[in-house]
Amino acid sequence: MLVIMRDHASQPEIQHVVALLSEAGAQAHLSGGEVKTIIGVIGDRETVYSLDLQGLPGVEEVIRVLKPYKLVGRDFQPEDTVVRVGPHATVGGGAVAVMAGPCSVESEEQMMQVARACREAGATMLRGGAYKPRSSPYAFQGMGVEGLQLLRAAADSVGLPVVTEVLDVRDAETVAEYADVLQVGARNMQNFMMLDELGTMGKPVLLKRGLAATIEETLSAAEYVLKGGNRNLMLCERGIRTFETYTRNTLDLAAVAALKTLTHLPIIVDPSHATGRRELVGVMARAGIVAGADGLMIEVHPDPEHAKCDGPQSLTPPDFAEMMESLAPLLEIQGSRLGWS
Ligand code: PEP
Ligand code: MN
Repeated sequence: MLVIMRDHASQPEIQHVVALLSEAGAQAHLSGGEVKTIIGVIGDRETVYSLDLQGLPGVEEVIRVLKPYKLVGRDFQPEDTVVRVGPHATVGGGAVAVMAGPCSVESEEQMMQVARACREAGATMLRGGAYKPRSSPYAFQGMGVEGLQLLRAAADSVGLPVVTEVLDVRDAETVAEYADVLQVGARNMQNFMMLDELGTMGKPVLLKRGLAATIEETLSAAEYVLKGGNRNLMLCERGIRTFETYTRNTLDLAAVAALKTLTHLPIIVDPSHATGRRELVGVMARAGIVAGADGLMIEVHPDPEHAKCDGPQSLTPPDFAEMMESLAPLLEIQGSRLGWS
């Protein structure tokens, strides 16, 4: 349920509604715009519906939400969420993030090289996996804590924030010690225990769409994180499974445009995992920006031929720099800018 307060409703009026809801055992999540406050109500349906909130002072409208999500919806919060990452990076509301780096952290030299190249080309965050979700249990599984340390050190050496995946909820605290953004991979999109946990941690979260998840399932997964109190969430379209095998996945750009209308959360496009092919990454990155994406996730490796993971879709540093240059005119047309201050 959403309680829409009148324009400029007073604090006592808002607090009165919140108090009634909490007496009824419901949670009230406030979205406060400059003029309007909207209260998202989470609790037992019958109990909250039976409260007579409509007639209270300051209440304009009570809306029963039929969708399986509330807090992530534009009904609850019409304005774009702007996520701040580290001291300089912002995502959303016209600020575009570029998260770049290798699929997996492999060595100090690799990370230092790639961090410098990404920073120079204008990336706003450094990515790299230390815990890798591999289809085969015999494939390289990542360097673990040592990988986190190398990633952090490389990012610090060039002043970029770190995005990295939490593969298992048991590692969440450890990953959070090193990372600025906690990534939930496609295979974990519906790991609800993990989403609950990340919802109570103070770090921004990047939630990737599942391999065969609908838009509604993706938004419902996102709701878990917001429900826990963490509003700093970004979603990522990374391609979905279709009958097509030429590309690794199918980049669902219509979902990007649709998500922009349905949710206030920033939407990131990952053309690397979506296409699986280096030669398609640049053009689909540009297409993502035109579709309204608030950011890109791009795999970059100094030596893709010898990458331990996802070499065929990794850009070399010069390719990445070229792609970054090609974004500038598009950002200008969109009225957006790289999210770095
Ligand atoms: C990744 O970003 O390295 C990754 C494993 O992505 P996904 O979860 O989208 O497959
Ligand atoms: Mn990868």
